[in-house]
Amino acid sequence: MSSKVPPVVLNNGVEMPQLGFGVWQVPDDEAERAVTTALEAGYRSIDTAAVYGNEAGTGRAVAASGLPREDVFVTTKLWNADHGYDAALRAYDVSLAKLGLDYVDLYLIHWPLAQRDTFVPTYKALEQLYADGRVRAIGVSNFLPEHLERLTAETSVIPAVDQIELHPRLQQHAARELHAELGITTEAWSPLGQGKGLLEVPAIVAVAQKHNRTPAQVVLRWHVQLGNIAIPKSVTPSRIRENIEVFDFSLDTEDLAAIGALNENRRLGPDPATFGT
Ligand code: NAD
Repeated sequence: MSSKVPPVVLNNGVEMPQLGFGVWQVPDDEAERAVTTALEAGYRSIDTAAVYGNEAGTGRAVAASGLPREDVFVTTKLWNADHGYDAALRAYDVSLAKLGLDYVDLYLIHWPLAQRDTFVPTYKALEQLYADGRVRAIGVSNFLPEHLERLTAETSVIPAVDQIELHPRLQQHAARELHAELGITTEAWSPLGQGKGLLEVPAIVAVAQKHNRTPAQVVLRWHVQLGNIAIPKSVTPSRIRENIEVFDFSLDTEDLAAIGALNENRRLGPDPATFGT
């Protein structure tokens, strides 16, 4: 594991780097280049998904890095078309084949699709993969508190992670509280609020100037101090390197309060209560 990024210990004892690299919307070839740059910069956690279409490029970069497999934490996600017990087991094998790996570190259900009423059997397939030692940790993404309550009532393995949209404009207090209660690690997607806009907010720019850092570094540092896992995305090498340099400074209570005041409960992405139905 990179010395730059400290680990978070998941609820099954597995260690996951607190900062990783996301590859949503990055075409396969470009993903290979970007992941290579990220691994060179010291990232040791990569977040992909079946639907991103870049598991193959991600896997090629991991293989080409020459890093021992156990030093790189790979997350992928099961797409909506693959809900259901049998389909989920097949989807995992397809993802492994594309990644060129014989296990992933974290396998997530991408969306709950609550109206389809399929997430419980789907998760039971993930539990089976976990029981068989084929995946190091299992979890969910975009699960709202009501989905987690049902899931934990009807299945036996508490998700290690819930990966949700989370940034200063959508601070997710209720979800984070429930995660803490249940022992689920909160992982932030779109941690930079997708960049433009959020990174120009005067309060964030002011904190950045105070610390002689960039707005992106300040927002990522805010996630770190909250205890979130964050997976920023960039295809620009200088930004990829910039985004991991957040472990050698700290925000003070005043900075945290200034960023805390930016919450608007505003989503950039779809609402998990209705998406995919
Ligand atoms: P993000 O918040 O990471 O923002 C990325 C954008 O911010 C970049 O495209 C770039 O425009 C800008 N940026 C990045 N670094 C910068 C820097 N240092 N300075 C200035 N601008 C910078 O948004 P994202 O890509 O939506 O989310 C990150 C990752 O989260 C994704 O790649 C994916 O892995 C994951 N994700 C998961 C879900 C889900 O449903 N589970 C949904 C969306 C994203």
